[in-house]
Amino acid sequence: MPETQQKALSWGRQGTAGWKDVIGSLLPLALCPFMPILFELALDQYQGNIWKAAMAFLKNPVQLFNLFSGKPFWKAGQLYVFWYVLNVALYLFFPGKYCKGQLTPAGHLLEYYVNGFQVWVLTILAFFGCAYIGLFPLTIIADYWAPMLLWLNVFGYTLTGFAYVKAHLFPTHPDDNKFSGSFLYDLCMGIEFNPRIGKWFDFKLFHNGRPGINAWCLINISFAAKQYQTYGFVTNSMIIVNLLQALYVGDFFYNESWYTRTIDICHDHFGYYLAWGDLVWLPQMYTLQAHYLATHPVVLSTPAVVLLLGMGCLGYYIFRGANHQKDAFRAAKGKCNIWGRPAKFLEAPFTTADGQHHVSQLLYSGFWGLAHHFNYVGDLLMSSAYCLAAGLTGLADGLPYFYIVYMTALLVHRIIRDQGRLSAKYGPVWDKYCKLVPWKLCPYLW
Ligand code: NDP
Repeated sequence: MPETQQKALSWGRQGTAGWKDVIGSLLPLALCPFMPILFELALDQYQGNIWKAAMAFLKNPVQLFNLFSGKPFWKAGQLYVFWYVLNVALYLFFPGKYCKGQLTPAGHLLEYYVNGFQVWVLTILAFFGCAYIGLFPLTIIADYWAPMLLWLNVFGYTLTGFAYVKAHLFPTHPDDNKFSGSFLYDLCMGIEFNPRIGKWFDFKLFHNGRPGINAWCLINISFAAKQYQTYGFVTNSMIIVNLLQALYVGDFFYNESWYTRTIDICHDHFGYYLAWGDLVWLPQMYTLQAHYLATHPVVLSTPAVVLLLGMGCLGYYIFRGANHQKDAFRAAKGKCNIWGRPAKFLEAPFTTADGQHHVSQLLYSGFWGLAHHFNYVGDLLMSSAYCLAAGLTGLADGLPYFYIVYMTALLVHRIIRDQGRLSAKYGPVWDKYCKLVPWKLCPYLW
């Protein structure tokens, strides 16, 4: 077999886990659950100052659990179970459409059922409607947030364990399973590629989108209502955070079929990283600005409002423009115009593990001629706008700015992972693409 073909056959996740991978899995499994709780402690008892909360935690780690004493644990559990079951029902049965994902390393092309946008609009309207008729107050999520965090962790770890057992006992596509030889690594990074129950309950699409991202705007609205309840007004900073994040979430659901062709769905296996990340990390750490502003009202000057809205909209334009460009280009197999001119691209052959040969295209004009991942610049601009809405006080407290630090680390790590995978998948064509487009994130920066 020629060397390039041999290399191409292994473009999915590779080989056995070394000791660094094992330690790299143990640390998040053991430590990550404390982080969202530590942030909650900072909000609850240290005026949103993450540095003070961290110091206090280091002196006396047990105090982390004081956060939950006397809180309505069972009621919060009932609410979360209701939310989870509601999302399962809406995901499976609410009207939607079908779309195709992308070829897996073993050669499967999965179909997905998408109805995220309708479900998102419906749940927001229902949330306001229920509050209007007095079924519960808009502050319900904010009121139950601390005990809810414990339940998110219970669900996150249960799902991780279930995914691990399922991969061994009844995997959906066994030929796409990847065993690393390490229990911890498999648990953390997952074994199954596209675990499903039945034909349509897709673990990755459901868990990434529904219990977490579908709750994102509701959590923000609830904390805005909390601010109103406490101070009698809602600040412009809170409105900016709510609006910009609603734009991002609405876009995600409106383009849900596009999401089935992104790295989360196309390349990551389903383990703790996605299961716990989707159920716990996302709802807590992605909504920190609204949590913070609920108790630290920041009123921005008009120039600051204009600047942040401009930054958010520019970020959104780059994010959506670049992602749409690639998606439309791939759908047309390169036969389309980019910024008014015929797309410039390389034909990139690759082979799936079943030995079948395929051809993909690598675009090197438009946003994709600027850098390998210029779409991430859009995300980073939007994330910066959310954080800056917390002003200088927020910067001193650290907590609302954590998101931009995390997003930068996440996206830089993704770029590094993606480089290795695409080099294995496309071999010399990828090298040629890298010569044509030398920048990874942003021209003249990196
Ligand atoms: P990309 O949308 O950049 O997808 C990368 C994949 O696209 C590659 O693996 C490759 O897949 C293909 N590709 C790479 N270069 C080219 C090219 N030149 N021409 C055509 N196809 C190419 O990455 P993500 O899925 O990570 O991100 C999607 C969006 O989601 C981004 O805007 C990102 O910012 C956002 N995001 C947000 C997160 C959040 O938590 N808020 C987390 C992660 C992402 P193939 O194998 O098909 O060739």
